[in-house]
Amino acid sequence: MNDSQRPALGDAKPGVGRERRGLTDQPRGEVQLERQPQLDLIAREDERTTDEVIGVGSGRVRITRERHEDRERASHRATVAWAIPLGVVASLAGCRAEVAEVDGAFYDGDGRAVHCAINLDDAAGNTVESVDAALDRALERGEVVELYAHKPGVTVPLAKLEHVLAAARDRGLAFVTYADFAAGTDVRPGLALSFDDSGVPNWMSARPLFQQYGARVTFFVTRYGVFSDDYRAQLRVLADDGHDIAAHSVAHYRAPSYVEENGLQAYLDDEAVPSIEVLRRDGYAVTAFAYPFGARTSELDDALLAHVPVLRSVSFSLQGAVSPCPH
Ligand SMILES: [Zn+2]
Repeated sequence: MNDSQRPALGDAKPGVGRERRGLTDQPRGEVQLERQPQLDLIAREDERTTDEVIGVGSGRVRITRERHEDRERASHRATVAWAIPLGVVASLAGCRAEVAEVDGAFYDGDGRAVHCAINLDDAAGNTVESVDAALDRALERGEVVELYAHKPGVTVPLAKLEHVLAAARDRGLAFVTYADFAAGTDVRPGLALSFDDSGVPNWMSARPLFQQYGARVTFFVTRYGVFSDDYRAQLRVLADDGHDIAAHSVAHYRAPSYVEENGLQAYLDDEAVPSIEVLRRDGYAVTAFAYPFGARTSELDDALLAHVPVLRSVSFSLQGAVSPCPH
């Protein structure tokens, strides 16, 4: 059975996720859904573009709208946000910086709690040449370059991933996890590569590459609470290989918007803390949390750092887009 035939989450209730009210008329691109069955959210993962498309602060390319009809019908948490398709974003926002120019994606050993990664997915438009130059910078300056992607073989080609792993190895860069950052282990120069969301079978498809290049990576997991036994078993295999398992919220809402609507405590109680605890209950030593879309505030940082020592946001290479990264 291939992935497209497989029910993404075997233990979800039949019938959930069929309702997609009001969403079919939206433009292609990232959609932040109102609260609804999680299976539906998982199904929509494939439809969305990358986290980079929508940056907090990239106000000129982002539209947020209250859908009052939905609020009245069902929920008081009905913010729907989406981005204009990537090509339009590019034309609005101008050129793309070289990855090596995006300072926020390079860790210089300063012990920061909020890290930022730059997107390796094809949709983010960062070329392998640009990534190579970033690896060169990490080597030359004794830094850790932080890169992230979603689904090997889907959002990032396996060949591109292999190129990056080989390029890191060839430069003698250490493979760094967010647990290493949390432990204060100073492993520079290096590459901190992470994978976000719920694409466990896709992560498994890259396992031979990780093994071939001796790579240790971090998986920022969202929706673990509704994972099937099969997904959980595969994640365990990856953890047993030495990869780091970390948290990426319960249902992948944009944290600052959630706080705006529901309050900080609700975000912690509904989205952040349970996503950490559900993994810890299964034995994972979760030491990091990645913000969905990288979207953060210093208020959120302070609150979340009571629960994990390390946070991960994102840096954009798109010039004109304001990165949520604090560095
Ligand atoms: Zn994500």
